[in-house]
Amino acid sequence: MGDPGQGTVLAVKMTPLSPDQVRAAFASIKPAKADGRYAPHKPLLVLLALARVQHQQARLAPFAAVEPKLKSLLMEFGPTGSADRRHLPFWHLGTDLGGSLWKISGPASLQDRPRAATPNLGELRQEGVEAGFSQEIHAALQSNPGLLESVARRILDDYFPSSLHADIVAELGLDLEGAPYAAITDEAAAGTRKRRRDPGFRDRVLLAYEYRCCVCGFDLRVGHLPAGLEAAHIQWHTHGGPDIESNGLCLCSLHHKLFDLGAFTVEPSELRIVFSKHAIAPNRGTDGPLSHHGQPMKPPLTAQDGPAPQFLEWNRSNVFKAPARP
Ligand SMILES: [Zn+2]
Repeated sequence: MGDPGQGTVLAVKMTPLSPDQVRAAFASIKPAKADGRYAPHKPLLVLLALARVQHQQARLAPFAAVEPKLKSLLMEFGPTGSADRRHLPFWHLGTDLGGSLWKISGPASLQDRPRAATPNLGELRQEGVEAGFSQEIHAALQSNPGLLESVARRILDDYFPSSLHADIVAELGLDLEGAPYAAITDEAAAGTRKRRRDPGFRDRVLLAYEYRCCVCGFDLRVGHLPAGLEAAHIQWHTHGGPDIESNGLCLCSLHHKLFDLGAFTVEPSELRIVFSKHAIAPNRGTDGPLSHHGQPMKPPLTAQDGPAPQFLEWNRSNVFKAPARP
């Protein structure tokens, strides 16, 4: 069951994987669902492991070595409480693709357990459990220029709204400059979760809100074009949210970013803006970043274009960093 890091015998027998096989392998990862909520654990751990390959670090990493970064990624980009389950992906990725993607190395007492009997945080730390990509996957990522980057782009695109991509990449120190976006739509991606975006969504949402941020009222135009305004999905497009007005909010770039980070949400009954208790600002004045807390959002021109309760509920339980500020 072990996976010797220096397995020369295995290395000789290894059949190289093609780039398409590698992309298909990553596209088939089954994301976990905790209580029906969105769980970014596996995608964030895979991105972390891709960054390790790019930085030419050892293929297998002890849990204790990746834990601090994984924890901070989950706290920043996951729903409330995700970081408490940071040990799960390290263990459960080992079952994806029949165990051919992710290898775990540790004492036999843990290795021989059923995969469902996940070791706890203390066991993973104290038993020195190591994990990382399989030798085949690792070798293919190293020997095909651009493959690692296209896999990382695909994962970002599948699991996270684009407003968060740059932050995640920066946090990991991943270099995706020059990585081909085209790989996202290639053969390997066919038949998977990818849904086409409706190019008219942004225009319809901005028009519904008369080209004004529904939080702060920002409404600048440069020439005749609205500047710094975006259409945010309330239920993320990556997680089944439709491209319709009642699943959209017109937000300035800043409030879009804060919304996708879960810093605030909109409560359904009175459409008030509610900031998270985790959003903290020294400036408590009327011009401070938290001054919109408790205020009604600026509604769209037509009430039927306003946010639908089911999408707000999805956002509150999946993205918003609960609890709310008092
Ligand atoms: Zn705004």
